[in-house]
Amino acid sequence: MPKFTINNAEVEFVQGQTIIEAAKTAGIKIPHFCWHPGLSVSGNCRICLVEIEKLPKLAIACSTQAAEGMVVHTKSEKVITAQNAVMEFLLINHPLDCPICDEAGECKLQDYAFKYSKGVSRFDEEKNHKDKRILLGPNVMFDRERCISCSRCIRFCDEVAKEPQLTFIQRGEKVTITTFPGKELDNPYSMNVIDICPVGALTSKHFRFRSRVWDMSFTDSVCTGCSRGCNTIVGVRKNEILRLEPRQNESVNQWWMCDEGRLGTYKFVNDENTRVVSPMVRPEEAEEKGGKLVSTDWEEAVSKSVSVLTGMKKHILFIASPYSTLEDNYALKKFAREVFGSEDVVYIPGIDAGFADDLLRKADRTPNATGLEAMGIKPVSEKTMSDLSSGKYKAVYVINDDIERAGLSKANLASVQSFVFHLNTKNSFAAENADVVFSESAYAEINGTFMNFEGRVQRIRPAVATLEQERLLGEFSMSRLDKFGAPNDRWTKDVRFNARPTWKILKQIAKAFGVDFGFDNSEEVFTELCKKEFGLDNMSYENVGSKGIVIRK
Ligand code: SF4
Ligand code: SF4
Repeated sequence: MPKFTINNAEVEFVQGQTIIEAAKTAGIKIPHFCWHPGLSVSGNCRICLVEIEKLPKLAIACSTQAAEGMVVHTKSEKVITAQNAVMEFLLINHPLDCPICDEAGECKLQDYAFKYSKGVSRFDEEKNHKDKRILLGPNVMFDRERCISCSRCIRFCDEVAKEPQLTFIQRGEKVTITTFPGKELDNPYSMNVIDICPVGALTSKHFRFRSRVWDMSFTDSVCTGCSRGCNTIVGVRKNEILRLEPRQNESVNQWWMCDEGRLGTYKFVNDENTRVVSPMVRPEEAEEKGGKLVSTDWEEAVSKSVSVLTGMKKHILFIASPYSTLEDNYALKKFAREVFGSEDVVYIPGIDAGFADDLLRKADRTPNATGLEAMGIKPVSEKTMSDLSSGKYKAVYVINDDIERAGLSKANLASVQSFVFHLNTKNSFAAENADVVFSESAYAEINGTFMNFEGRVQRIRPAVATLEQERLLGEFSMSRLDKFGAPNDRWTKDVRFNARPTWKILKQIAKAFGVDFGFDNSEEVFTELCKKEFGLDNMSYENVGSKGIVIRK
């Protein structure tokens, strides 16, 4: 491989790499505002100026290719003077309103002002004031004073979203971004401009002024909006999810995620009105009158399930969930087989062809249908439907789904006597028909894995706490919690939902039937399912890592 020298260290580079790319590969950071690895090079911010020996002028590292024998300095006196000058120019008209800016704490301009500027301004005149609250589209607000004209947002719309909805107008100090008159910044990926804007000029209408970032915790997770499984970071304050952001994974979503996944997959986790917040049973005396479910404790919910399932053996239809983890679905399959000797486990597919596009979005709107198929769980078939109508099944056991999605209604379930549900979100069918509803944890409250459309297994982790984690805090040592997704100290505040992971609920019911599942945490379920379902020995969450692992094509 060719080599060049940077800050007196000889480093290798790939032919065609720019200095900024080659330096990044070698672990050397060169400051940049306008350069982004997922966008074309525009070279307009000038903060990446470096000194190249034998060249008369400084050169921008983002558009100058590394060359064999080149000698580059990123910290020389000339470079530092240039960086100071660039920062001074950028800050001349900048409002310096960090105390009220959402970006504060994660702002490149703020960080670089600390690192690459002199910390004082020679500009005493009145700053150039501009509009501060411009709604660019349904999800993005623009603060014209904060913009440093890096053009990242424009290039993103043109090159990635393929929706050229932004452009520059005016010149000099008046230059600004805007949409075409009468048009909006409104495309399926519009909110990515917020993440890549290096300053607080573009903010989320949904997160704006909700929290300072240093008051939040951030947990790596995976989007549940479709089978792509975009890698995400869940931002939480006081046990409430405030935002999702994309997490870089070149093999899955690069740096991006779609707006629908970003906005549509977390609000329900916080919502006390739509969540199932504790186990519920329908009292005996109320059954005949169609009475309501009432809240209860786990013991009573387990004992009620045992009583409605006893003697059913092969007359139970188990409905798995493509919205649930591999661990939960494996536990259901094991529950059906080992407790009832049944293989009647199916799932309801969630295909929406209109959602798919060529960038990220997949027609399968579930995060784990591929995982279910890989474990031999098949979609509900015509045969299952006719078996239900003909009275083969006396009980239906559902995890994390609304069975009306499959077109099942009370009419074609007339011969079914008992329904047991595990739900995190209420649905009307369960409200009217369930004997027992277990309050299961939502994806953001548990450890587990999903398999995306290409067979990549990816981790989710607890970002918010349930009462179960509160209980575990008392039971386990902190080192154990560290291993399985340690809560930070903010976790223990504002705990609300009495929910448990589905695999754990199933283990408890199986135990009441005299079957010991053996596993004690989600990682042990994962290890077992990898062995039993995929023939892989000794798999752990460490093998999955932060970017997932393809274990099934
Ligand atoms: S709004 Fe942000 S991303 Fe767009 S040009 Fe201005 S600073 Fe750059
Ligand atoms: S493309 Fe799919 S997985 Fe990615 S953010 Fe959108 S809904 Fe979520």
